[in-house]
Amino acid sequence: MIGLGTLDAWVGRTIGVGGLPTREELDAYQLRCLNETLAKARAESPFYRSLSGWPEPGQIADLRDLARFPQTSGSDLSRGEPSLIALPLRDAVRLVTIPTTGTSGAQKRLFFTEADIEATVAYFEHGMATIVRPGSCVAVAFPAERPDSVGDLLMRGLARLGAFPVALPVDGPLEALVGALRELQPAAIAGMPVTLGAAARCMAADGGQPLRIETALVSADSVSPSFRAALAVIWGAEVFEHWGMTETGYGGALACEAHDGLHVRETDLYVEIVDADTGRALPLGQTGEVVITTLRRRGLPLIRYRTGDSGSLAEGPCRCGSILRRLRLDGRIGEPILRGEGRSLHPRIVDDAIFAVDGVIDFVVKLTSGGRPRLTVEIVTFGSRTADEVRAVLLAHPEIGPILRSGDVDIAVEKTSGPSPPLCRKRRVLEDGGGG
Ligand SMILES: [Zn+2]
Repeated sequence: MIGLGTLDAWVGRTIGVGGLPTREELDAYQLRCLNETLAKARAESPFYRSLSGWPEPGQIADLRDLARFPQTSGSDLSRGEPSLIALPLRDAVRLVTIPTTGTSGAQKRLFFTEADIEATVAYFEHGMATIVRPGSCVAVAFPAERPDSVGDLLMRGLARLGAFPVALPVDGPLEALVGALRELQPAAIAGMPVTLGAAARCMAADGGQPLRIETALVSADSVSPSFRAALAVIWGAEVFEHWGMTETGYGGALACEAHDGLHVRETDLYVEIVDADTGRALPLGQTGEVVITTLRRRGLPLIRYRTGDSGSLAEGPCRCGSILRRLRLDGRIGEPILRGEGRSLHPRIVDDAIFAVDGVIDFVVKLTSGGRPRLTVEIVTFGSRTADEVRAVLLAHPEIGPILRSGDVDIAVEKTSGPSPPLCRKRRVLEDGGGG
């Protein structure tokens, strides 16, 4: 356990209170920012001006009153007209397009200003300072060549805190990445679970020199217990999760040494949890869809934006001493569920079971639900692990096994050979064997 402190002192400075902020001071700051965001968005963004159901007066006296305002979603970002942008286009310095899920081919468009980007770099600097010591080498396994990409902003934040970030080669073969890691001997590494899991498993199996890495920051995908255990065994690494997406300005929430939820970036984000079906705001502790409102975003403010992620906000203070709210994430809304034998299973159970098999570095799970349900697992392995062995592990699993053995669901495990998969992408669980 590394224990470099909390983000609270930086939050205090950022919101303009002396010393560590109290929850009441942070709530007051968020209320002020929300009212500024609501007023500016309604006055300057053609999209928010056009929204019906905007309450009058357009200000709130309590944070919970935000629930009276209309919600937004990814389709508002991909439609483009009327524009969400709340400033002259010449002031937007960075346009980011991200593909939406599904088959429409529409792209979500986001704009950031210099101040928006600076806020993210500052968050990365002070967030990483809670898990990385100044002077240590940090391997960054995100693509970082493009200016203002997530990898680039993370490198800039790390450099500011006095660490030595080095970008790893993530678009070549796995062996190149592993070779670079052995040469660097970093104290910490940051990347997506697929990338870090593949690198660690490759190192464990290739007979080369073992490596100790103190800290692993993982982001952009869910983290299973077996992944956490593999990195602890192979590298001796403590895994810290980060949650973020382009819409949150990349940074969103970060685990602490207590590993009991991720502390929200409350200087820049107000998080609500809503019922995914009705949109109704839910109290602390209940699970639903994660909804964000940006607090200081100049270019393109997001108000009550539905992220598609599932989670809850934890009640009570964290053991680490931080007052920042904690987000407990629980996959994506509407993920395909494996059903049979009167049970239903979340894909993360399948994810955890497959990654627990030594030698598996990546996989795609397809659930075909038309007619007789069929679970197809395509695995990429390092070494001699066979598809039959993975199949046997799934059949023997205490939760998955009964469903598969019941005959309600067919199972096929295939080993994918050929070139290494792309190293930076999310692990995939697909329904009906396609799309997504
Ligand atoms: Zn904590």
